[in-house]
Amino acid sequence: MIYADNAATTKLDIDAFEAMKPFLLEEYGNASQPYSFANSAKRALKKAREAIAKCIGAFPDEIYFTSGGTESDNWAIKIASGEGDIITSSIEHHAVLNACNVMEKRGRSVKYIPVSREGIVELEYLENSVTEKTRLISIMYANNEIGTIQPIKQIAEIAHKNNCLFHTDAVQAVGHVRINVRDLDIDLLSASAHKFNGPKGVGFLYVKRGTQVSAYLNGGSQEKGLRAGTENVAGIVAMAVALEKNCNGINENREKIKKLEKIIINKLDNSGVKYIRNGSEDHIPGNISVSFKDLEGEMILHRMDIRKICIATGAACDSVNTNISHVLKAICVPEEYIKGTIRISLGKDNTEQEIKTLTDELIKIVSNADCM
Ligand code: PLP
Repeated sequence: MIYADNAATTKLDIDAFEAMKPFLLEEYGNASQPYSFANSAKRALKKAREAIAKCIGAFPDEIYFTSGGTESDNWAIKIASGEGDIITSSIEHHAVLNACNVMEKRGRSVKYIPVSREGIVELEYLENSVTEKTRLISIMYANNEIGTIQPIKQIAEIAHKNNCLFHTDAVQAVGHVRINVRDLDIDLLSASAHKFNGPKGVGFLYVKRGTQVSAYLNGGSQEKGLRAGTENVAGIVAMAVALEKNCNGINENREKIKKLEKIIINKLDNSGVKYIRNGSEDHIPGNISVSFKDLEGEMILHRMDIRKICIATGAACDSVNTNISHVLKAICVPEEYIKGTIRISLGKDNTEQEIKTLTDELIKIVSNADCM
């Protein structure tokens, strides 16, 4: 099997797996309990919070553990926006877009900023869209379908100049590109462990010190009473190990993945197949969105699947929905290409041989040399 759908999820890092085991089998105490058996869990949470904070340039008390990217996004959109209006982009993940829909139903105004052909938000449009009622600007760090990285620092500047909070859904970026929340002046940032070789069902929301946010889940006093519920200690510990490891290897992984990316692009360029590459120069390493003329992404996916090669047609969460992706529409992929879009997303474990095989099989399929 060749796995090239790392934007959907990644393989759990072996060290992260080893790190979580004791907290499932031996040190399984509830971190909220006062007896000494729970001390190991308490210490592990503290250490994980410190390690995660260090990876993104934050303070440990700014990290709130959640169940993943969707929860972190919902917290930011539904709670951090207070009573104010929201501005977001037209290419956000559904975790943000559907949370915004709920806010609209509650009578709040949400504006959706258009993007360029490369998928970059129109900054002038953004600035002109702010009103005195706007409380939150939420723009994703990097897009899951096309990999485009946004001008985060400039967006934060626009938000702060207008007394708004700035939230970024960095689910695709954390662990893959270097992020310093202080340098970028980010107020809230969402991350998800399974996108950086951590386990599924765990993530975090970074909330800058002094930012007024109320509780997302009500119950016990965990996460300073803002996100109640017994902590997923094993998952949190593994998330920290995976993030530390990815951050330490960020340059090495990027170089390796960029090399693999070049192999794919060179092979496609030399094949004579008609295709368009989507996204921008500045993108998440290994996120390759390509559109083939007069073809169906679904057909390509299924034929790759028969060959035991995993790729995606668009957003993973949308694979049952055959509607054309909102991201591809927003970046105006030409009509004769849009349906023939696939996403290959490489990971640190992919090998050169795998990528050569993947591309050769893909070229056979899209050039019609192969009917099955
Ligand atoms: N935001 C982005 C950009 C994503 O790519 C995803 C997952 O695909 C999410 C949010 C949701 O994250 P999770 O799967 O952890 O809920």
